[in-house]
Order: sequence, then structure tokens, then C-alpha cells
Amino acid sequence: MLNQSKRVYRQIDSIKEINHDQSKILKISIIQIGKYNQIFNSSYVKRSLYYNFYSWYNDLLNVLKNMYKVSIKMIDLKHIKLVDENTVDQEYLKFSNSNKKLDKITEWLDVRKSDIKTFNITPVKSCPFAHDCQKIFKCYAIIQEEYRKDFKKQNKYNFDLLRKYHHSIDKMTDLIDSSLPKAKVIRIHSSGDYFNENYLKSWIKVSQLKHNLNTIFYSYTTSIPYWINNLDEINSLQNFKLIASLGTNGYDDKIKENNLQFSKVVYSENEANKLGLKIDVNERHAISQNKPFALKIHGTQPKGHNSYKIKRLNLVRSDLSLV
Ligand code: SF4
Repeated sequence: MLNQSKRVYRQIDSIKEINHDQSKILKISIIQIGKYNQIFNSSYVKRSLYYNFYSWYNDLLNVLKNMYKVSIKMIDLKHIKLVDENTVDQEYLKFSNSNKKLDKITEWLDVRKSDIKTFNITPVKSCPFAHDCQKIFKCYAIIQEEYRKDFKKQNKYNFDLLRKYHHSIDKMTDLIDSSLPKAKVIRIHSSGDYFNENYLKSWIKVSQLKHNLNTIFYSYTTSIPYWINNLDEINSLQNFKLIASLGTNGYDDKIKENNLQFSKVVYSENEANKLGLKIDVNERHAISQNKPFALKIHGTQPKGHNSYKIKRLNLVRSDLSLV
């Protein structure tokens, strides 16, 4: 679909039936597929004759339909997508904008916040090898889902849609690629994990499509066995990166054996120092380096939970160790 977008974009200049303003709006629309609120609210559109959103939207629909046999699908209240007329009924995955933590990537990488997107699925159910994050500290995604119903709903929607095709790498690859927003950094799974090997392979395939080679794809994972099965391929990729989360059920020793970059959740700086690990505060270690590092446990741990007390008192766990 991205090639389709580019093709349409290139040909806009040759459309005789529309004027300069319309042409510019079309380009903006196509560049910013998935964000019609932004398109409408951008100063250019507001200044233009097409201030009325419905006029603009209807004209856009007509031009695309008549000239290029493509249409626009409303995915939900926030997202639109350019689609072939005959796939207008197709369903798409939903990506989210950056968040406070991911915004920090802009401190050291030459990207804007709007270049960073994240993709999420239901936590725990999609994490076949997770252990510590369910037994020792409370999974951050679960905490988020508890007070953000929209987040939970979107995660479930994505997870259910992917599971329809879980046997087919090609189908999941198509689904992910056709749903990808324009982005320079994609954080896969702030919530959820690679629920089967086909799914991991699908993301690898998506990242290696020619039109995605300038996008960085990265994720933390506890699905270590799937990673190890595809170790050589993953090691050879320039724009696809995995970081092992320690605390994986029965596979922590494999992380060391296979020399996988890992992150260890610590309760305090004191703990990170004891382990000789630097704390990653802006995803720099995750995206651009290959050494193990520490992540400080989220401050949203439930009161009364052991980890909450240790964090507050800046204590060091007695059984603290690396793999
Ligand atoms: S792997 Fe991530 S999403 Fe899954 S249970 Fe652990 S912290 Fe939660």
C-alpha cells in the first residue's frame, strides 16, 4: 500500500481537474495517512478554501475514487487509511503515537516525536515465556489496561486480528505492512510479546521490505526460544532489534549462552550499580547499543507490593544477580 501511496502522490501533479490548493491538500492527506485530525487542524487546511472538513473529505474521496480507483477507509474516529477499492472491507491494525518515555528518543536521535509510533497487543496472554513480570513485579501494561479502557480495547482488537492469521507468515506480514503508519521508529510491544514464531518472523519480514528499510523496528521480548531459532537472521539485520527481558521462564541461561543483549529490571540505582549496569532512560541503550543495561521499575507498582517497598527505600534485593 505504501507503494500505492507513492504512486498516487507522484501522479497528483499531473491531475488537471484539480487546482493547486486541492493538489496540496491531497499530498498532505496522503503523506499523513492515518491522521485526519492533524490534516484538518493543520494551519494550511484551516487557511484554505477547504476549511469545512466535510467538503474537503468528500472531495478527497471523490478524486481518489475517480482518478485512481482507491478509497479511504475510516478505521476509527482517529484513523483513516488509503486503500484499494476492492479491499475497502479489509481490517487494519491500529498503531499508537509516541508516549512520554519514547519521546525521549528525540534527545539523542534525529527524529521528531511524530516519527515515533508504537504497536501493542494484549499483555500476558500474548507472552508465552514471561515470568518475573507476572510473578515478581506487576506488568506495566496490565496496570495501564486497568485504568485505560481504550488502551485495553485497542490491544485486544490488534491481538484478535493477528490471531486470525497466526498460522500464516505471509498473511500476518501483509496485515502488518498494510497497517503501518509513516514512522522512523516503531516500538513493537510496549504491551504484549511475540506470541508465536510466525508472528516474530512476520515482523522481521515487514522490517526487511524495501520501503521499510529506513525505519527502525525494536522491541523487548521474553520470547527467547523464537529469537534463538532465528538468531543468525536477526543478528544480520540493520533495522530490526530485539532486547531480551531477563526473568523469562526457564530461558535466562539461554540469554547468556547465546550472547543476547538483555535488560534487567532493577528497583533502584543502587541495584543497577551493584550489577555494574547503566540505566537506560531514553531508549538509547536499547536502540543503538549492544551491551546489557538496566531499566528502573515503573513507579506505578501497586502500594504494598514488595517491589514498591524496595523501590521507595532504595534497597538492594538479597538474591540480586544477572543470568
Ligand atoms: S512480557 Fe511485557 S507485556 Fe508481557 S507480561 Fe511481561 S511486561 Fe507484561
